[in-house]
Amino acid sequence: MRVANVSGRLALVVDGGVVDVESASQGRFSSDPQAIYDRWDEFTRWAAQASLPPPTPLNVDELGSPTPRPRQVFAIGLNFREHADESGHSAPTEHPPIFTKFPTCIIGPRADIPVPVDGCTDWEVELVVIIGRLASRVSRADAWSVVAGLAVGQDFSERKLQLASNPPQFSLGKSYPGFGPIGPWLVTVDEFSDPDDLELGCSINGELMQKARTSDLIFPVSELIATLSAVVRLLPGDVIFTGTPPGVGMGRTPQRWLTPGDEVVSYVQNIGSMRHRIVAWS
Ligand code: ZN
Repeated sequence: MRVANVSGRLALVVDGGVVDVESASQGRFSSDPQAIYDRWDEFTRWAAQASLPPPTPLNVDELGSPTPRPRQVFAIGLNFREHADESGHSAPTEHPPIFTKFPTCIIGPRADIPVPVDGCTDWEVELVVIIGRLASRVSRADAWSVVAGLAVGQDFSERKLQLASNPPQFSLGKSYPGFGPIGPWLVTVDEFSDPDDLELGCSINGELMQKARTSDLIFPVSELIATLSAVVRLLPGDVIFTGTPPGVGMGRTPQRWLTPGDEVVSYVQNIGSMRHRIVAWS
């Protein structure tokens, strides 16, 4: 099942078109895409057996984040060995570095992204996990059962601010408005033959910059959920950015940063792609 946010309304993606959920459910479920995660099991049961009206055409420019206002947004640093290398760090072995992107940075799969013109804004394509159930102290074996679905994410990062303090505190430099795109929609876990082995990648102006597989994550999704939920309560609709593969601008020689006019395309296999245009922050 594919669950989308179309112009701020909850929708199912069916046969390449969309079905409005509030209308198709005759008001049983509200149009708010964020509200559905608190009734996720009830919603997926309904969607699996509902007789839906014919879909209307999908306009990708109308897509928003499938979780537009998550209460918590977690992000994982250095979760691919070669990305740790290019960042000048040794790869973590015992515990992943965990930070947050403040939730107001979340945006959809088609927006313009303003970047500070005197900054060093970088790209980081990532697999995003969206939580579908209140989860506390979840074992690694049970971890996938609390996941509503997966989406493509971009962890845009202004490196100067990210690394300005000592020791570095990542969150602020990764939280400018629009620095947390998620999309193009949520795909439920049952749609994947192996949700732990998905190709993901990112291109700038058509040039492929990142390409990897999530089977190379140092800490896989199940371990991230076990680690996070050992401490915090994961809430329905919460988001985990699972870490970026090598190929970011900071790790290149010479280093490369996003500038106004650049187009960033991010994809994850069996989910879809997002397309963002970089504009000047003014
Ligand atoms: Zn990241």
